[in-house]
Amino acid sequence: MEKGLLSSIQSLLGIKKTPKSCCKDCLSLLYTVLDGEATDEEIKYLNEHVNSCSPCYQHYHIEKAVKEVIKYKVAKKEVPSDLINCIKNKLNQ
Ligand SMILES: [Zn+2]
Repeated sequence: MEKGLLSSIQSLLGIKKTPKSCCKDCLSLLYTVLDGEATDEEIKYLNEHVNSCSPCYQHYHIEKAVKEVIKYKVAKKEVPSDLINCIKNKLNQ
């Protein structure tokens, strides 16, 4: 899966802000988990980490929502405005 997913969705939705993450390691692990390529250990670690690290928590949920948007786009369905608003709200937090 492409790593610039969030930025492409951001330009698609006209969002300019980028969520912050605490460190690069967190970020790459986050993408591995979201892409379904992580081991059980890694998933467990990430879950524990995001619960204690608010930048990663925020980023994780935004990326999850972005993945949802991609699904709609791929299926050529209209993206629910709830979902778009949800991402925008999270980015504005
Ligand atoms: Zn973190």
